[in-house]
Amino acid sequence: MGFPPEFKVVVDKEKCIMCRRCTIECPYGVHVWDEKKKTIIRKEENCVACQRCVFTCPTKAIQIEVRPPAYSPHPVWTEKVRRDIRLQAETGSVLLVAMGNEEPYRRYFDHLVIDACQVTNPSIDPLREPIELRTYLGAKPDYLELEESYSDIKLKTELTPNLKLETPIMFAHMSYGSISLEAQKSLAMAAKEMGTYMGSGEGGLHKDLYPYADHIIVQVASGRFAVHEEYLKVGAAIEIKIGQGAKPGIGGHLPGKKVTEEISQTRMIPVGSDAISPAPHHDIYSIEDLSRLIYALKEATRYKKPVFVKIAAVHNVASIAVGIIRAGADGVVLDGFTAGTGAAPQVIRDHLGIPIEVAIAAVDQRLREERIRNRGSIIASGGIRSSADVAKAIALGADAVYIGTAALIALGCTVCKQCHRGKCAWGIATQDPKLRKRLKPEEGARRAANLLRAWSFELKEILGALGLNSIESLRGNRDRLRGIGLTEVELEVLGVKPAGR
Ligand code: SF4
Ligand code: SF4
Repeated sequence: MGFPPEFKVVVDKEKCIMCRRCTIECPYGVHVWDEKKKTIIRKEENCVACQRCVFTCPTKAIQIEVRPPAYSPHPVWTEKVRRDIRLQAETGSVLLVAMGNEEPYRRYFDHLVIDACQVTNPSIDPLREPIELRTYLGAKPDYLELEESYSDIKLKTELTPNLKLETPIMFAHMSYGSISLEAQKSLAMAAKEMGTYMGSGEGGLHKDLYPYADHIIVQVASGRFAVHEEYLKVGAAIEIKIGQGAKPGIGGHLPGKKVTEEISQTRMIPVGSDAISPAPHHDIYSIEDLSRLIYALKEATRYKKPVFVKIAAVHNVASIAVGIIRAGADGVVLDGFTAGTGAAPQVIRDHLGIPIEVAIAAVDQRLREERIRNRGSIIASGGIRSSADVAKAIALGADAVYIGTAALIALGCTVCKQCHRGKCAWGIATQDPKLRKRLKPEEGARRAANLLRAWSFELKEILGALGLNSIESLRGNRDRLRGIGLTEVELEVLGVKPAGR
């Protein structure tokens, strides 16, 4: 039956010089050269609003507009609902989508405001006084034992390995396969330059990334792709992935057609074979099993690397996090339900899990109550959009954050939500050699590093306005947050007071 197009491709005939650049740039086959008619025809039904033709048209003749609803309006049977049902009636399959949750749930970050100093508690000018963003991730001792002599003081306590971050923002795990090598390289170079880290994702580590491995956290997921001694040793830290915010409770699937020669070598699987990550780790059915894996990985790396455990934010996240820290992990990564993904069933992405803000607050509170907050760091991810979100996440209790979609937008992503199709017009979520060439790692690294630079400076401005001279002083400092338009129960869960009180 087909569907009416969602977008309208508007071309200004006076500006168009018929250079045919749009026919090359559009990977979705919208602009097509008609040899007989000697003109470009437009197949609007294929347009996904990736904006590639808009940005690359030399005369800026193209504009993409959202079409007015093609269906008679209805508050319950919205156009999206009707499109989805028709599509499933046509195909009989699960709706696959990319990027984060699109349902209009409350975004708690938008209902939290940050305090500022006035009159009696002076603010700090970050241009004139130092403000510390350095963050250490990993377990900290319960107390420090010192050995004092006349001339010296020595630390007797043996410290466990920690990651040193110059800014509390890292690039989230996005595997080689789900994104291109050029995108991974861009983020690795930026992480190194800015003194922070990126996640390898679950697809192993391409040899080209080894020079940046001291700024890469290597992931061990249920598929165990490319997990070998060298991989574990070369990374700065290890992350066991139990769950993912965009698809809690289900596994992953990289279709065989995306498993190219290079990806097959990195993932250590045959070319063209489906890379399936099972929903559970088949050797983890209890906290004791998890503990065994944590210590096996620590053993394999001679106790020199911190081991983190990533879980999706779900209802009983605080108890799970306590179990993880007691099992010996050096930190817990909480991935909220607005986290991005390269591909997930729409029904899972949009309806499972909980918001990252409440997960951070619940976990921080519980770890404090159990008096084990120092034994592991909290890393928050999923839908962090700005330096304000970073500051609010840290005030709620996180030590650091991961950014995924924001990092991709810095590289050029326009959030067209087509990552699962492998035709990314910006060379990011694709393995097509022609499309990959569109992303130059040096340029990507410059942009990603600039984003971190800008957010870090804004974080210093926020800290200065709060009269704090270090990011440490903001961590879990929920008293510097106030809620607006939230119910008493929501405020209680977040551990913040209402504005005005
Ligand atoms: S390049 Fe992107 S925005 Fe332009 S027509 Fe093709 S799909 Fe639409
Ligand atoms: S990564 Fe590429 S395909 Fe995915 S949303 Fe961004 S622009 Fe679209």
